[in-house]
Amino acid sequence: MKGNIGVTTENIFPVIKKFLYSDHDIFIREIVSNAVDATQKLRTIAQKGELKGDAGDLTVRVSIDKKAGTLTVSDRGIGMTEEEIDKYINQIAFSSANDFLDKYKEDANAIIGHFGLGFYSAFMVSKKVEIVTKSWQEGSKAVKWSCDGSPEYTIEDAQKDDRGTDIIMYIDDDCKEFLEDARVETLLKKYCHFLPISIAFGKKKDWKDGKQVETDEDNIINDTTPLWTKKPADLKDEDYKAFYRELYPMSDEPLFWIHLNVDFPFNLTGVLYFPKVKNSIELQKNKIQLYCNQVFVTDSVEGIVPQFLTLLHGVIDSPDIPLNVSRSYLQSDSNVKKISSYITKKVSDRLQSIFKSDRKDFEQKWDDLKIFISYGMLTEQDYYDKAKAYALLKDTEGKYFTYDEYKTLVKDNQTDKDGTLVYLYAQDRDAQYAYIEAAKNKGYSVLVMDGELDSALLGLLEEKMEKTRFVRVDSDVVDRLINKNKDDKYEDFEGSLITDMFKTQLPKLDKIEFNVQQQAMGAASTPIVITQSEYMRRMKDMARFQQGMNFYGEMPDMMNVVVNTDHPLIKRITEEGESATADALKPIEAEIKGLTARKDAINQSNKDKKYDEISQESKDELQKVNKDIEAEKQKKTDTIGQYAKDNALVHQLIDLALLQNGLLRGEALTNFVRRSLDLIK
Ligand code: ADP
Repeated sequence: MKGNIGVTTENIFPVIKKFLYSDHDIFIREIVSNAVDATQKLRTIAQKGELKGDAGDLTVRVSIDKKAGTLTVSDRGIGMTEEEIDKYINQIAFSSANDFLDKYKEDANAIIGHFGLGFYSAFMVSKKVEIVTKSWQEGSKAVKWSCDGSPEYTIEDAQKDDRGTDIIMYIDDDCKEFLEDARVETLLKKYCHFLPISIAFGKKKDWKDGKQVETDEDNIINDTTPLWTKKPADLKDEDYKAFYRELYPMSDEPLFWIHLNVDFPFNLTGVLYFPKVKNSIELQKNKIQLYCNQVFVTDSVEGIVPQFLTLLHGVIDSPDIPLNVSRSYLQSDSNVKKISSYITKKVSDRLQSIFKSDRKDFEQKWDDLKIFISYGMLTEQDYYDKAKAYALLKDTEGKYFTYDEYKTLVKDNQTDKDGTLVYLYAQDRDAQYAYIEAAKNKGYSVLVMDGELDSALLGLLEEKMEKTRFVRVDSDVVDRLINKNKDDKYEDFEGSLITDMFKTQLPKLDKIEFNVQQQAMGAASTPIVITQSEYMRRMKDMARFQQGMNFYGEMPDMMNVVVNTDHPLIKRITEEGESATADALKPIEAEIKGLTARKDAINQSNKDKKYDEISQESKDELQKVNKDIEAEKQKKTDTIGQYAKDNALVHQLIDLALLQNGLLRGEALTNFVRRSLDLIK
């Protein structure tokens, strides 16, 4: 018998091929899951006692016949009668097929779902497909349906003893890869790894006398009862770890896992793992596999789970995620939204419960866990409110605190005069060692914020917590990190002998500007401290990640060089410098004094006048006096510079400070070493 497949479009097969080309290996999933469906239906019939005789071996078998050029999927499921073939295979509705294909050409899942096209996906890789099938019903005749990719098919009687269906695909010349054992096995492992009926691909192989030989044992490629289908109560930690190894053989042991199991208002099961990653480069999205009744659908779960959870590993299985639709539709689907927030809640609850029940374990894993939680807090509005109960801060001693605990800890000692809580932090414990020590000596606590997302996170925390500021421990000298008293005065002496000595001798570094200040910091502190303002540093940090902030990126780093006037070496340099330059500076200072007096006099005489009423003569003189003062000051600075140039101690102190901040390199470093050797000679 001959007939026409009910396709309104001239010929659907070239269309199938063209549009589905990129994804065409999913035909294997479609054909094998049809076989599995038919087998499960048979099982149900058998369970109801409606099947005559024994159901027997229900293994689905996939085989390759290289000579014939065929790939065959055989099942012992319910099979089809001729009428059923006509109904299920021939009458496919292709109304407005072209419009739809045009719209969803990137999305094979959507196309297949829309057309109920599962079976026809075989034509993506085949020049001819045969169905040889015999229904389970008593007295059924075996039939063979055959179609070569035109809308014409033939149907004829066939010889088949066994109940069930063989789908025989005559693989196209340009798809020969699907006749390779290795390729097919890979695809079966990908798409059919957890199908609920055993799938055999040939026989197991053994090594014998240096050769691979087939054994009698079926090569079963799937696990019919994967872990997520079992009850959590029946599972041990080792089971979860073993399943993880099965999914990700190359990965380290996971930190935690979460068994998802919900049946209202939607069905969803699965296991999510927090992977252990060594650095953020290893962070990979799309390691979660999405299944629909144990059929692999995709490993691109964006839109289904919240963005930060796409970094997790594991499996989600839900028949309620409308997978046969496009991605953009998926994201607006209300069921999917519910699923997404359910998963967030589950993950959060689980973390909270581990935190509560085994805080020590939680703390031990925190450094690895932190990146996920930070990412979640930064990207998911609601998640912050959940996570703040168990998100931890770590101090430089390695102690962990919740946000509330830390607040209590530092409240008394680290609140500034305006009532703002100042959280001190270090980003690099080695580079900022001296500053951390100084802060600790003052009784302050210092946090470690060395994670990739920490700069962003502390911005968020400042936003969320009331009256709290994060200040990096080297952003000012220790006495000024937290200004506690209203009447604390910090004078920036500019133009003093000691600041001029250092200012004139600091090296010119690319993209760094130094501002020299002096401050009495106690004899025990270092003679020079280099600091960088929190604000500028953060702006520059952000500029690296954000577009449109290039302005900050281009600006030089502004470093404050603070000279400790209490330090004996600074005192010595000052005293020696004063006496060595006294003669040369005396006339200059006298000049400055005279000019300043003149300037004051001019200003005094013009005090009550409006700008228009001041005589031009007076304005000109004032301008000249100002210019002269500047010139004299420059002269003074030059004189001091001339003296300081040969002062080994000044250079030594500058270099030590630069060295401590990782700023001494190349020739300057070599010069420093040389000078040091000279000094100890
Ligand atoms: P879907 O599986 O989405 O219904 P398909 O095009 O894959 O669409 O299959 C159409 C129908 O053909 C199935 O619903 C089923 O009734 C029948 N069918 C396909 N493969 C088999 C099989 N191996 N055994 C029995 N029936 C099958």
